[in-house]
Amino acid sequence: MGAMDVHYDLHSHSIASDGTLSPDELVRKAHGQGVRVLALTDHDTTAGLEQAQQAAVATGLTLVPGVEVSVTWERRTVHIVGLHVDPADATLQAGLAGLREFRKWRAEEIGRRLAKAGVPDALAGASRHAKGSIIGRTHFAHYLVEIGRAASVRDVFKRFLVQDKPGHVAGKWASLEEAVRWIRSAGGQAVIAHPARYRLTATKLRKLMDEFMACGGEGMEVVTGSHSRDECAAMAAHVRRQGLWASCGSDYHGPENPWIDLGKLPPLPADCRPIWDSPGWPSPVAAATH
Ligand code: AMP
Ligand code: MN
Ligand code: MN
Ligand code: MN
Repeated sequence: MGAMDVHYDLHSHSIASDGTLSPDELVRKAHGQGVRVLALTDHDTTAGLEQAQQAAVATGLTLVPGVEVSVTWERRTVHIVGLHVDPADATLQAGLAGLREFRKWRAEEIGRRLAKAGVPDALAGASRHAKGSIIGRTHFAHYLVEIGRAASVRDVFKRFLVQDKPGHVAGKWASLEEAVRWIRSAGGQAVIAHPARYRLTATKLRKLMDEFMACGGEGMEVVTGSHSRDECAAMAAHVRRQGLWASCGSDYHGPENPWIDLGKLPPLPADCRPIWDSPGWPSPVAAATH
């Protein structure tokens, strides 16, 4: 395989957060589907990285240790991916532990609100789907689908878990500055995840990018599983103008979402600078011949 063929996927989830595969299964599946450099970026935890790294060594895939940090910015939830983070960093771990504390309280609150809306035992059901890791809204969604209260995970979000719906609880996550600081403390690069998902005006997105870069943020996802072709082109123009490094990642959560698969991402537009060309990344040839 030539250097140009290396398939990078720099955003994915395992059972350590709201994905459904174990880190081991995720790495093997990614490798089998042609991914050569994979970042595991679970929400607010690095618990899956050790197992993922063992599987990566066994299969010959290059694992980028990562995390996806939940952020509240101007009363919205925004996600910041950290790439090449050292999971042993105490500042990062203290920050993530605080977010998981909020998650625990939020899960209880979602459970109480759903009970009032006529859905009993949702916390217990969601906990079962979380299998001992962090509890996210996705786990509540899996439970409501399981008990027949909704047809799909998407349907649960729309009817129960978003703004103005009975199970919605406002996020109180990290500040943008904290998220970038924790990631940089752990030696990582901070990347704005799936920017088109936030439905920001161009002016507001520029404000987000400006503040992010002022904190030391370096990259933004251009190609992701949730961006349309037009959105990829628009985000490519934004990273070019701002001088951000471009990233790409599937945001894979497991085989239950067949519309997002591993190894299927289109290439980054030719006119943006891939983050793997930034200082500190291993050469693509080394990654390809691993
Ligand atoms: P949380 O961090 O617990 O608030 O949950 C956010 C996660 O829920 C995202 O990372 C997605 O995996 C998932 N999610 C958010 N919105 C939707 C949606 N409309 N349909 C399906 N999954 C969603
Ligand atoms: Mn998720
Ligand atoms: Mn996200
Ligand atoms: Mn994600």
